[in-house]
Amino acid sequence: QSLTDDVEPGAATMPLPQNDERRWSDTSAYARKKILQSWVQLPNGNWELGKILSTSGEESVISLPEGKVMKVISETLVPANPDILDGVDDLMQLSYLNEPSVLYNLNYRYNQDMIYTKAGPVLVAVNPFKEVPLYGNRYIEAYRKKSNESPHVYAIADTAIREMIRDEVNQSIIIRFSLSYSGESGAGKTETAKIAMQYLAALGGGSGIEYEILKTNPILEAFGNAKTLRNDNSSRFGKLIEIHFSESGKISGAQSRVVQCAEGERSYHIFYQLCAGASPALREKLNLTSAHEYKYLGQSNCYSINGVDDAERFHSVKEALDIVHVSKEDQESVFAMLAAVLWLGNVSFTVIDNENHVEPVADESLSTVAKLIGCNIIDLKLSLSKRNMRVGKDTIVQKLTLPQAIDARDALAKSVYSCLFDWLVEQINKSLAVGKRRTGRSISILDIYGFESFDKNSFEQFCINYANERLQQHFNRHLFKLEQEEYIQDGIDWTRVDFEDNQDCLSLFEKKPLGLLSLLDEESTFPNGTDLTLANKLKQHLHSNSCFRGDREKLFTVVHYAGEVTYDTTGFLEKNRDLLHLDSIQLLSSCSCHLPQAFASSMLIQSEKPVVGPLYKAGGADSQRLSVATKFKGQLFQLMQRLGNTTPHFIRCIKPNNVQSPGLYEQGLVLQQLRCCGVLEVVRISRSGFPTRVSHQKFARRYGFLLVENIADKDPLSVSVAILHQFNILPEMYQVGYTKLFFRTGQIGVLEDTRNRTL
Ligand code: ADP
Ligand code: MG
Repeated sequence: QSLTDDVEPGAATMPLPQNDERRWSDTSAYARKKILQSWVQLPNGNWELGKILSTSGEESVISLPEGKVMKVISETLVPANPDILDGVDDLMQLSYLNEPSVLYNLNYRYNQDMIYTKAGPVLVAVNPFKEVPLYGNRYIEAYRKKSNESPHVYAIADTAIREMIRDEVNQSIIIRFSLSYSGESGAGKTETAKIAMQYLAALGGGSGIEYEILKTNPILEAFGNAKTLRNDNSSRFGKLIEIHFSESGKISGAQSRVVQCAEGERSYHIFYQLCAGASPALREKLNLTSAHEYKYLGQSNCYSINGVDDAERFHSVKEALDIVHVSKEDQESVFAMLAAVLWLGNVSFTVIDNENHVEPVADESLSTVAKLIGCNIIDLKLSLSKRNMRVGKDTIVQKLTLPQAIDARDALAKSVYSCLFDWLVEQINKSLAVGKRRTGRSISILDIYGFESFDKNSFEQFCINYANERLQQHFNRHLFKLEQEEYIQDGIDWTRVDFEDNQDCLSLFEKKPLGLLSLLDEESTFPNGTDLTLANKLKQHLHSNSCFRGDREKLFTVVHYAGEVTYDTTGFLEKNRDLLHLDSIQLLSSCSCHLPQAFASSMLIQSEKPVVGPLYKAGGADSQRLSVATKFKGQLFQLMQRLGNTTPHFIRCIKPNNVQSPGLYEQGLVLQQLRCCGVLEVVRISRSGFPTRVSHQKFARRYGFLLVENIADKDPLSVSVAILHQFNILPEMYQVGYTKLFFRTGQIGVLEDTRNRTL
């Protein structure tokens, strides 16, 4: 067991919510007096278990492992649970529910490969970074029969299926990571989503489609994921997979939805795979060379991933494309688009007049792009050197300078790639299309990024954290508010427990006209707007908002649910304006190949859609296109709407170390994650309430026969009360509501035991 104090350096950038006493009712002075074992915080911040040898006045003497003895201020001790509670599978069962006890419990289980633990209604999954013997048919069978009841993704998936059938309500499984300091997490979200799908496929299988669904993963991964510093396979999009079931409970189809925000020139796996795995014939057709020759791929100076054979992966992707019925011709067009993007990056420019206007150099790069997308080389050259502007009724032609031309080139490359990704998702959806006999029942699995806080935070983090603020509210509202509402509705006297709502932060983003998104969009439409004028505008209008703080120059800080994040507006406007000009769209629609044509029309359709947010006028031309942030917000609202109609099940992935190493559990890192995602709050709130609920009728029916008195003509409520009295259930352990009885954890157990013995 290794407990290191290695907390990542960047960790200090996000201050954590205070561990105030309010969170932990049972760490009272009274509780402290009774205990023998206690947690002692060492100077490095880690907690260690000690025995209290003596207490005198304000101080206690504690013996620590390895014979160390320490004198500490009694107030700083935190009670530890008796050994018998070591490794309980639900944190709610802990007698002393405090941070060190929770950390210890997760660690204890982790050391025995028990990577799943319940935190009340939430499943916590700690990434093992190695194969653990918890999966496969034998386990699936055990969870189906309920002969294994330890926490597991399978158990969550099983509950989702059962509730879908029982309540005839769609379900969702929401898999999230709390926060990341280092790009995408590697916390295990995507793996967890696959494990959930595995279970659904096993139970709802038989139609054959479940195989296809599982097989679509390599496509989305290759086109949507990239290697980052900390995760070799980091997803840059949020993915909602909706799995549909027929009346007979078989999987009848699936649908993927994607939430994506603007990306820089990050290079996706598929580019390397194509360069490594294309056949000689394909290489020749696409004029492909090695990955090193392409400027877009050279930026990170990293061409391979340890232990990954790109050529082999390329074949898996092709197989997967076959499985989802993308024809060989279409596959070739897909690869041609990829090659066109790569070659576009190599297009260079030369100055043509004394006003610094440029045009593309007519070399191999330019001619290959033209050939691959099927356009006239002259048209391509024009679209990369000139821009049509409409002024009143006239169109004037503006020549481009070098930076403008480079922007135009990169915007074209990015648009082609993002259209290609959307097109692929559409093809997958068509192939997995829901059958005609659709019952409307589905289980959705959401695999989505968590809060991000880096040393420098840009537009991408801004979007991602906004999305997380919404997801966090969904989580909070579901678990806390609904719970409270149920008590109140049933007339239960339940002291209201405050929970940290993040509506204020969401309003900061969404308020019109003076919210972050509106102000960003407004500034994006001003031709003279710059990153600095944006920052100043935000500071001017939002300085009094308690979730906002203006910092020096182009910096501003948002107080997110997970902590403060400081953003740098550098590049915000450019990334928010969708820089593709109408000229480029026209170029694509003039192409003889069908994919570019399809891309062009999808972009035009997009700009003709009813306006849901501010529009950005592309380069002063006619076309009006939605800003990236507005598009993102639209996608997010659709996602939230879908989730809103489902019964959610939550899984929180925890990354126990930053080096992807098995067996290494860093207390500080885990604690940060637990605090930032509200898991500790959930446990505290659920436990302080009455989590078990049974209707009067059901309770009377189930236990009525145990009563000694005659109940033949009594109403369910009277019967229920009689049962409670006969079994001496203590008054503080239950509440009687208008329609239901509410119990504290563990109370039903006694009754169930008696019932089972009697039956
Ligand atoms: P995320 O999607 O959160 O970024 P991934 O799901 O890609 O993270 O997981 C990162 C890596 O962690 C995986 O490639 C795998 O090696 C490991 N991993 C995650 N979950 C498990 C698991 N349940 N069992 C074994 N290894 C896992
Ligand atoms: Mg992932």
